[in-house]
Amino acid sequence: MDASGGPDGSHGALDAPAVPCAPDEAQVRADLSAAYRLVARAGWDDLIYSHITAMVPGEPGHFLINAFGLRFDEITPDSLVKIDLHGRVLNPGPGRRINRGGFALHAALHAARPDAHCVMHLHETSAIAVSTHPLGLLPLSQHALRFHDCLALHAYEGLVLGPEEGQRLVQAMLGRQAGLLRNHGTLVLGRTVAEAYTLSATLIKACQVQVAALAGNPQPVLPEPDVARRTAAQLFDNGALEGVLEWPALLRSLGPFPT
Ligand SMILES: [Zn+2]
Repeated sequence: MDASGGPDGSHGALDAPAVPCAPDEAQVRADLSAAYRLVARAGWDDLIYSHITAMVPGEPGHFLINAFGLRFDEITPDSLVKIDLHGRVLNPGPGRRINRGGFALHAALHAARPDAHCVMHLHETSAIAVSTHPLGLLPLSQHALRFHDCLALHAYEGLVLGPEEGQRLVQAMLGRQAGLLRNHGTLVLGRTVAEAYTLSATLIKACQVQVAALAGNPQPVLPEPDVARRTAAQLFDNGALEGVLEWPALLRSLGPFPT
């Protein structure tokens, strides 16, 4: 949800903070490692798999990613690996290896979408379940309406993403910030780590609601189409940056980084 709204529909906050200043690498490392820990705490992690990447400010073509083999709750700002678009490690050291096959998905999007400062790909169970529905995400909840008519759906093509699939994925995400990878998980592009996390949380909540709703009722009630469209526009809020209020609140809930 955006900075001035939320799942309760409370739009129009007058004291919403301005868009924060451009971060430096230390800030991005802090935010990205916090995002990994928050994902782990929410139970959206998958052993050591899936990835969240972020651009390094002032270094075009350079990105930060988790060291392959760490649990998400073990990730610290210093443990993040700096890589280029080819997956080459730029700050080599003990344990600084990455899942190159997994990074291919991120590389395709970072190369094509300069607005995607953070790419968050997760294997949350409900999202994988919803990705198998013929219609994908249904407009069953206020959370789902955030993605009404603007959620990409990308067909499953196998484990390792090649250049041709990368282009199909980029095409599916064209003009979009979020998508479901069929039989696989979620994909969110954020202008900040905070935005990617907040949108991912909203998408996952929408998927969890859909799984619960369809399990209890094969014919759930949907909002009227004009209500759905109007609500979606309100939640989009003219493209306002998301996560501005939520992110500091989430950071306050995290303890110190593991040592
Ligand atoms: Zn994956």
